[in-house]
Amino acid sequence: MDISEKRVKFGAFEGTLEEASCPADGKNAGADLVFRCRDGIGYYRCRDCNLMFASPRFTEESLMNIYETEAFADLRMFEDWSYEKWKEGRDRAYVTQRQKLELIRRYLPEGARLLDVGAGMGLFLLEARKEGFKCEGLEPSAMLSKVASEVLGVPVSTVEVEDFNPPYKFDGIVIWDVLEHLYDPVGVLKRCAELLEPGGYVFAQVPNHRGLSNSTKTMLCRMGIKRSGFKHFWFPWHVYSFDRGSLGALARAASLEPVLFESWSHLLKEGRSGPFSRTVIDVVKKLCISDYIVCVARKTG
Ligand SMILES: [Zn+2]
Repeated sequence: MDISEKRVKFGAFEGTLEEASCPADGKNAGADLVFRCRDGIGYYRCRDCNLMFASPRFTEESLMNIYETEAFADLRMFEDWSYEKWKEGRDRAYVTQRQKLELIRRYLPEGARLLDVGAGMGLFLLEARKEGFKCEGLEPSAMLSKVASEVLGVPVSTVEVEDFNPPYKFDGIVIWDVLEHLYDPVGVLKRCAELLEPGGYVFAQVPNHRGLSNSTKTMLCRMGIKRSGFKHFWFPWHVYSFDRGSLGALARAASLEPVLFESWSHLLKEGRSGPFSRTVIDVVKKLCISDYIVCVARKTG
């Protein structure tokens, strides 16, 4: 039976399913099943590049409908919001933006031009502009881009990156927590490469299936000990999970050469700075064992 003809319910969601394969090589035959949930959703690992993907998954059209009906972001923080209060509070969102900017400053000078693909509510852009970068963002969600423009006052448009044609190129493109949602991540990375100056950089963060917590949960699922399904994958929102190899394969397929992989411990994102925290932060960073990987990739050619 062709699964694409049937509408299915998955928890609170409903839509049409499709079979998927690794977007870096397109060979479904080259993947091993890691785990299949009782609802029929399977999680596979590509034999070529080690990328993990969900199959079947919702079709892109079905997932777009799901995005429109669900609230993705808690907007309560923007009631009575001010930049000064946010900065003073040093919450996780603020410390994470600072961490991203410290990374970018290792590669790009003050005043460089940045594009944020999947800018969300614009918090990164706000902090990047304070740091002296020229910046703008793209965010397909009308709700989130409205917060960015109207509450934070940062330039964010709802245009898709494929249709974005500015009269200038960028020194850096940030794409945080976006690639795992995309049905054509190679196409989007290729478009990012086209929008970069020669030698420009892409800064990406994606889920890491080799992270300590993620890989432990996967193991417990496979052993039948963890019975709540494969929730740590974040299906249906996430259709992929990566490791250094698979993220590198994706970048190279888009003419981008990875120059750095690291991962950020939750202690780092919480702004912990004691001696014990600093040791853990360094180990997690070097071994890439948190549940997200950060990659810097340079435009080649
Ligand atoms: Zn692959």
